[in-house]
Amino acid sequence: MDLQALIDRIRGRISAEEDRGDVATYIPGLARIDPARFGLAITLADGTQVASGDADTPFSIQSISKVFALTLALGKVGDQLWQRVGREPSGSAFNSIVQLEAEKGIPRNPFINAGAIVVADVNLGNHQPREAIGEMLRFVRFLADDDSIFIDEDIAKGEQDTGFRNMALANYMRAFGNLRHAVDLVLGVYFHQCALALSATQLAQAGRFLMLDGRLPEQGRVISPARARRINALMLTCGHYDASGDFAFRIGIPGKSGVGGGILAVVPGRASIAVWSPGLNENGNSKLGTLALQMLAEETGWSIFRAAST
Ligand code: GLU
Repeated sequence: MDLQALIDRIRGRISAEEDRGDVATYIPGLARIDPARFGLAITLADGTQVASGDADTPFSIQSISKVFALTLALGKVGDQLWQRVGREPSGSAFNSIVQLEAEKGIPRNPFINAGAIVVADVNLGNHQPREAIGEMLRFVRFLADDDSIFIDEDIAKGEQDTGFRNMALANYMRAFGNLRHAVDLVLGVYFHQCALALSATQLAQAGRFLMLDGRLPEQGRVISPARARRINALMLTCGHYDASGDFAFRIGIPGKSGVGGGILAVVPGRASIAVWSPGLNENGNSKLGTLALQMLAEETGWSIFRAAST
């Protein structure tokens, strides 16, 4: 299969789409992004890279950072994390507060905002926010093998200025004793991880460890195979908020979206894929990014539900 020709064709079809969804407008740094942008990058298990469109333009990865933050937190506290965060799909919006009351401050999963805020509390550990943010940045640079990756301070400030719901979620969990640190310190970490800027090419590289059972060819083992599989399982079941079921149905591979319009998708043993199209659908997931992944999965046959013998 000529993968380059295929993704160029997908880019062509996506650029012809008129309904591109709506870019996130809650902060100026996201509101000014042109919805016509589109990037698609794939790293295959043998290291081959292909890319099409604006695949080298850094974008705000937003909630995709929750995957890397979770990996880091599991490395620090292991399975104890699951006493403070659940592993079930929420069936609610990314920033919903309703379940937290009934479930006594324990968020449903690490990929909704409340769960990611608990994860940020773990990653803060005994550090100052600045150190925890630095650790996060170094980790993502290490995974992608790319020291040019940066945190967009303008985006981080926008998150801080408008993050009233996240502050509410954090305060609520602190009231239940599920945050160890002061709310503003934890949110400092969370807002900066959301502001990580990666291109599609860099993001596909950063996701390789999840395609390769937790091990990178040059850097060695990042996490155990069991942990990599479980993170993929959480991406499949919880990676798209209350549209996670639809994503699994249409695309059939684990994926994590962000309101910046990016999606990281992982085909275990085969491919790490990053797509960027800034317009969002009604669930806050990239509208055309999802469509591009659906086309890619259909054309390649990539699916975690495919019989191994075919
Ligand atoms: N920074 C966003 C928030 O916390 C992330 C949400 C997302 O990417 O889905 O509201």
